[in-house]
Amino acid sequence: MTSPRLILNDELTWHDRERWDEALSLLRNLFSHNNDLDEIRRLAVALRRDIDAVDHFIQQNTAQVCPDCQKVCCINRHGYYDYQDLIYITALGNAPPLYGEGIVDTAPCQFLSKYGCAIERSIRPFRCNWHFCTDLIAFMSSGPAKPLRAFNLQFRELQLLRQEMTDFFFDILSRDSNQNLL
Ligand code: SF4
Ligand code: SF4
Repeated sequence: MTSPRLILNDELTWHDRERWDEALSLLRNLFSHNNDLDEIRRLAVALRRDIDAVDHFIQQNTAQVCPDCQKVCCINRHGYYDYQDLIYITALGNAPPLYGEGIVDTAPCQFLSKYGCAIERSIRPFRCNWHFCTDLIAFMSSGPAKPLRAFNLQFRELQLLRQEMTDFFFDILSRDSNQNLL
């Protein structure tokens, strides 16, 4: 089997369909056959809960700033999952959406509807959840300090949790492959 790290890394892109399909198949296989990955499932559920917990604060602010925006930031390139997103959503038992062919990266994102993003926040590409433009940051900073402080803290924690989940995923795979060599 190809080493997971050779496929699941920052180079992975939906535009390289062969690699992408290989990554999805690898992840599906690992999560359906390896009980050692239960801990990754638990971390993914905790991460989803933490993302859900910041939804209200983000929504409250974007609802004020984004409707009048002339330079909407949701372009197609941002709607693709990266390898950490794939680990996360596979651990949750989900799969990436079917992407439309022939849409250039700089076109409006294929998931942007007139009501905003059509993908539930907790399973959006992670980059979408931490993109805050200067107007949005300025608006958030002009509001009460306590909720902003709480949000910053929650946000830092969920970034750390996501990294912990990814690192642990590779640790488990490397431990399992070392055991198989004994
Ligand atoms: S986050 Fe900023 S750039 Fe994106 S739609 Fe909202 S106001 Fe516009
Ligand atoms: S937030 Fe949704 S609509 Fe915007 S770029 Fe991300 S996936 Fe696309």
